[in-house]
Amino acid sequence: MKKQGILFLLTLSVILMISCDSSENEGVNQEEVSKDLIAKLENAHFVTHNARITTFMGERGVAVEDMFFTFEQIDELNQEIVGPVTKQYRTTNLVKKLPRVITVSVDPALGSLGSDALDGMINMYNQENLQLTFQRVAFGLKGKRKANIEVTEFYELESGGFITLGRAAGFPTRKGDPAKGFGINSRWFELLNPSLAEVTGTMAHEVGHCIGFRHTDYMTRESCGQNVNEGSAGVGAIHIAGTPTTSDATSLMQACGPADRFNNNDKIALDVLY
Ligand SMILES: [Zn+2]
Repeated sequence: MKKQGILFLLTLSVILMISCDSSENEGVNQEEVSKDLIAKLENAHFVTHNARITTFMGERGVAVEDMFFTFEQIDELNQEIVGPVTKQYRTTNLVKKLPRVITVSVDPALGSLGSDALDGMINMYNQENLQLTFQRVAFGLKGKRKANIEVTEFYELESGGFITLGRAAGFPTRKGDPAKGFGINSRWFELLNPSLAEVTGTMAHEVGHCIGFRHTDYMTRESCGQNVNEGSAGVGAIHIAGTPTTSDATSLMQACGPADRFNNNDKIALDVLY
């Protein structure tokens, strides 16, 4: 296997040339994502070619891009038609009951890199003086003490030229709580030895999803060198006032990186929402 030079934070992905055939799924009877689910995800402007049924953070659902949705969450994405739309930023639900402290924790399986990145991510958000402030708690607490956003470890091989760096467990709930967490792919650590800034940036990107951010370029996926999905109006995506509707190559919320900090438009968007 050889790696192409360009590193994309990307669907939090890295583009790789895979010269050997992956036989990872051979002989495995994979459950297919139904046409109905695909249609709903595409209606909400997700790129579905790698969508698959999986279990993530203890729940069954669909992994698509760097997101995971339960079947119920996919229905929710489709319940509110927002339109007409051009190019947008946030999803339908946001975190409510502001000002609010959001507790976060990280799985020790992600090592000191994961631990340091969590602290870095907390600083990134807290420096913005938002109505959401982030506070670290121990991993694995139960009940009410459990972190609002848990960062877990998963291990997933690269496939089809991409490796997923992180995966968020959806967007905020209708009740106005953040998504319950996200995973970081430890295969990424093993394969590419990322810097602290890259892991911190990836965590900040995934937290962005947990509190309601869509990908800045969700309509086109242009940051990944793709041009897909352009044209029809989607659902569950609302433009944030004061942010551009044109290309924004340095946004931390681009589908593909390598941003590791908020750019000015990200800061405006955070300020408008929180
Ligand atoms: Zn993302």
